[in-house]
Amino acid sequence: MNFSKDTIVIKSLTNTLKTNKLSHAYLVIGEDSLYCDEFILSFVKAIFCLENKNNEFFSCEECKNCHSINHSNYIDFYRLTSESSIKKEEIQMLKSDLSVKSFYGKKIYWIKDIEKMTEQAANSLLKFLEEPEDDIIAILSCKNISAVLPTIISRCQQIKLVGQSENTEIEKNEELIHVVNEYVRRYINKPHLANIYLLEKLKTKDDIVDLFKHLSIKINNSYTENNLHDALNISRVQEKVLLAVTDLNSNVNATLVLEKFLFTVLLENNNLEFLIRG
Ligand SMILES: [Zn+2]
Repeated sequence: MNFSKDTIVIKSLTNTLKTNKLSHAYLVIGEDSLYCDEFILSFVKAIFCLENKNNEFFSCEECKNCHSINHSNYIDFYRLTSESSIKKEEIQMLKSDLSVKSFYGKKIYWIKDIEKMTEQAANSLLKFLEEPEDDIIAILSCKNISAVLPTIISRCQQIKLVGQSENTEIEKNEELIHVVNEYVRRYINKPHLANIYLLEKLKTKDDIVDLFKHLSIKINNSYTENNLHDALNISRVQEKVLLAVTDLNSNVNATLVLEKFLFTVLLENNNLEFLIRG
């Protein structure tokens, strides 16, 4: 997994590893579950890896500790996950497992999706977090921090991840191409309805930024193979895309930028068919 979008977080954790100042509890917040899980496993492996002699954010993936962690059978690493809800009994069971002395000096437990904890479970965990033991590290992870008790948040060092797994990016890209194709198809028949369709599909700033990135690439690729008439039409659309990108960069509200783009395209009756070619 490529963690390049979270280099700041990695630098800070590297520093922690090098100075041996690990916190008692981490709260990892990341929207992409797969990416978040991989990140946590890499962190845990960096702590236990036998070849990580320089204490970097590194794991060799070859030593017996790395192997055991990858196969979910490392003796000092506990994970708690649940499809539905995490109950108090599960937290109590975890506590009793953790009361056994560690083999190699440290024990780590990871509770995934802590939004799923029942209130009783959260309270039970809270007591545990309040009395940290030197050799135990808690890693809690969630997608949505607003669903986590403030008392739990305040006892953890927060790690906010922004990266995404490659699969998610590919899926997002495919979804965007589909949406653009659908928009152009509708635009040819009923332009007003096409605008409404796109505005409903692209709601977040990220979606809208991605759309204009996609359009810029598409436009650049369209120039070469077209005649003069097409080129004129394409350059008119390109002007609007560039204007939208400038507005987005100066933090104009993304939905307004998209609306403006769509309605000026409509007003000038630009031909958009080149966007769905190839
Ligand atoms: Zn290793």
